[in-house]
Amino acid sequence: MVDAGTLASELAADGVVGVSITWADNNGIPRSRTVPVASLPQVATRGVGVSTVLAVFDTHDAITFAHQGIATPSGDVRLVPDLRGLTRLAGQPALAWAPGRQIAVDGSPWPYDQRGVLEAQVEAAAAEGLEIRAGYEMEFVLTQAGDPDPGGEPRLAYHAPAYSPHALLAVDEFVADLLADLAANGVPVHQLHAEYGPAQVELSIVAADPVTAADRQLLARQTIHAAARAHGLRACFAPLFTAADVGNGWHLHTSVWRDGRNLLVGGATSGDRPGPDGMGWLGGLLRDLPAVAAITAPSVPSLARLRPGYFAGAYQFWGVENREAPLRYVLGSELLGADHANVELKVSDASANPYLALAAVIAAGLAGLRERADPGEPVQADPGRWSEQEREARGLHRLPTTPAEQEEALTGSKRLAAVLGEPLLGAFLAVRRSDAAWAADRSLDDVVAAHRWRY
Ligand code: GLU
Ligand code: MG
Repeated sequence: MVDAGTLASELAADGVVGVSITWADNNGIPRSRTVPVASLPQVATRGVGVSTVLAVFDTHDAITFAHQGIATPSGDVRLVPDLRGLTRLAGQPALAWAPGRQIAVDGSPWPYDQRGVLEAQVEAAAAEGLEIRAGYEMEFVLTQAGDPDPGGEPRLAYHAPAYSPHALLAVDEFVADLLADLAANGVPVHQLHAEYGPAQVELSIVAADPVTAADRQLLARQTIHAAARAHGLRACFAPLFTAADVGNGWHLHTSVWRDGRNLLVGGATSGDRPGPDGMGWLGGLLRDLPAVAAITAPSVPSLARLRPGYFAGAYQFWGVENREAPLRYVLGSELLGADHANVELKVSDASANPYLALAAVIAAGLAGLRERADPGEPVQADPGRWSEQEREARGLHRLPTTPAEQEEALTGSKRLAAVLGEPLLGAFLAVRRSDAAWAADRSLDDVVAAHRWRY
């Protein structure tokens, strides 16, 4: 048990003046309350007040009252820091950071608390003797923070070939500080590189238990934003930076374990696919993929990102190391260790609440494992290059392309709807409809531009 009083004294002695308690809303947008460090002991038990309407904020900070459970501006919940995640921010040395859980004023669980939804799925897995490991990849576009170019667009931070070390040279000081800050903040990193898109960077985070993985995804954003600001840069995490270029995927890697064994490791008879339990996990994800994507890639720009040929995933299928597949089975090997095996969900981005995204993936995977859902044969090609008839013959369906289809997919999956629970599902859908109505009479360019700096 962490003692909040001791922690507060240590932080104060270190020059920390405030603690920023952060959660993510139903649009994947981080929200926070900052409290003076001296009040940490009190806040650690009683929390700090937050309006219930944050659960029905849409992407543009408009409040929708279309959800019956939160139909007025009256109501308050308590935001309580999870002190196990408390981190002194290397890039903002006067502040510490902590993930927050939202509880009702009487101390009972609040059904709209997204982190609690994930905790429930982790417990469900544990009750079946299963453990989940999860890791995020974060793609983002770096621009200059200053004046836009004469065309009114933000100036890109670098112009150089994709994956080039020379590309990153232009933002060398930022990269150095970012890696140092992430290490200091306890966010372990696999790698960072110049990605395919214009001024796009990717950072991949080492896998952890799901709640830690989601907490770290938020902490990594804070760290990236702070390092960018310190170097006159700005990071765009939105699913699309422009309507035409490749998007920012926040691919979600998961593996499922029993008794210290990774069930996604290649089976004894066919090394290039998992054994029966792992196939069930994959089959469950594939079966519920349209509903999962409604949670993991929920915004209007998310839908535009999921187009064929952009390595983002557009059709409902899986493949072995197929980068066009929304579900990419990543093999282990003798060199990498069998434990390397995992499933990568590509239909995932920053507009997803990271806790709900992981909860959706776990629920779909667990159900599949339990029921031995059959994912069928992998597809190794890009079905976007096939004819409609070929896709039909192989039973390959397009993932939802409109908010209405997306909602139908989510409400149509009893398994996934149940994960959120009725109150949160109602709020989540109300917010999605509010976003869709906002976007309805705007061009995709305008919609994309309005989402750029929201995450
Ligand atoms: N940028 C792509 C996306 O939108 C992913 C590229 C890659 O495979 O890393 O998901
Ligand atoms: Mg990438």
